[in-house]
Amino acid sequence: MTSKTEKVTALFEQHVIPCYARKPIVLTRGKGTKVWDADGKVYLDFIAGIAVLNLGHSHPRLLQAINEQAGQLIHVSNLYYHENQGLLAEALAGLAFPGGKCFFCNSGAEANETLIKLARLWGHERKRYEVITMRNSFHGRTLATLTATGQSKVQKGFEPLPAGFVYADFNNLDSVKSAITDKTAAVLVEPVQGEGGVIPADKDFLQGLRALCDEKDILLLFDEVQCGMGRTGEWFAFQNYGVLPDAFSLAKALAGGLPMGAVIAAPKTADVLQAGKHASTFGGGPLACAASLATIKVIQEEGLLQNAKDMGEKFRNGLQKLADKYEHLKEVRGAGLMIGVVLDKPAKELEAKLMEIGLLALATAEKVLRFLPPLNVKPAEIEEALDMIDDVCAEWHGKAADVAEMQKAE
Ligand SMILES: *Cc1c(COP(=O)(O)O)cnc(C)c1O
Repeated sequence: MTSKTEKVTALFEQHVIPCYARKPIVLTRGKGTKVWDADGKVYLDFIAGIAVLNLGHSHPRLLQAINEQAGQLIHVSNLYYHENQGLLAEALAGLAFPGGKCFFCNSGAEANETLIKLARLWGHERKRYEVITMRNSFHGRTLATLTATGQSKVQKGFEPLPAGFVYADFNNLDSVKSAITDKTAAVLVEPVQGEGGVIPADKDFLQGLRALCDEKDILLLFDEVQCGMGRTGEWFAFQNYGVLPDAFSLAKALAGGLPMGAVIAAPKTADVLQAGKHASTFGGGPLACAASLATIKVIQEEGLLQNAKDMGEKFRNGLQKLADKYEHLKEVRGAGLMIGVVLDKPAKELEAKLMEIGLLALATAEKVLRFLPPLNVKPAEIEEALDMIDDVCAEWHGKAADVAEMQKAE
């Protein structure tokens, strides 16, 4: 008899383009920080759909908002007005900067593509088009955004790449300075690099970038697709730095799990994209907007920014204790509930062992184990996760010690 898991994975093998390396579990339902697979096994979900499910799984207020809106209107084209898009734009601009305006789309890559188009159009009359991005960054998988992504493994095979991208070193202001030419229109940077291994920008770096861009009349653009929407304990990660961008992108957690992206533009760039210059069929539809409005309300009313700060600190402290205890754990870093543990060997091993005992975490940048729990994660769940990591590390280190002993004995 074949199991449900075998049936589903076989379907994928036959019919789904194999561009993902999936883990061998079939998820069937979730509640809060817990998720269940087809065999009834329960996991503590410390990935949350890769920073998408900031309210956890099946939050009742999100479900209610989606249900109510679906019964009224699911889609309205951007040929017409509907109230939700206006309300959401008002809310997001209000959280970011007064006088800001929003454009809505459906994904992080699409939001970053919008930032790049905005920079090109803004630079056009100034005869500037180059966008400086950081090495080790991640901005998406469309041709323009994979070119913006400063990692050759993402670009390989897709040459020739679109022109106009220049790379600099993250957290190195001099490197950005020397990348500036008379063609530079914008600098695009993640305030906390996610896929690159959970690396927060230094305060001096972001503040220095702001001053540099002001001096040279260059746009400063932030990619907040992963680090935005409360993930770091502030609505947007740049709010930890006292630095405002000229525009920034959001996606992942923006609509609590429904696909949605956005660009929030400060007054300086808010009217660059005029009618006919940009569009997206599904962008800012009533259903995604209702979900996003509900997500924002829940974050506010349930105090989830503070919880992200508190639980982030608790988790990082606990991880640091484990790092002091186990030599393979080299460093704990991150902000709020965006956390990376740097290992001295491939993180995939630890990721697989944790999944086996019921904790979902994510290997990133080879040797970093990344944790992105929901913003409403509870203290007991943090403790449970720490216990599991402790158990797995004890076994992992025990084996490593055995091997070392055997080698010594030989
Ligand atoms: C995930 C991610 C993207 C791409 O978002 P998609 O929705 O997958 O297109 C872009 N930038 C950052 C920082 C991301 O984490």
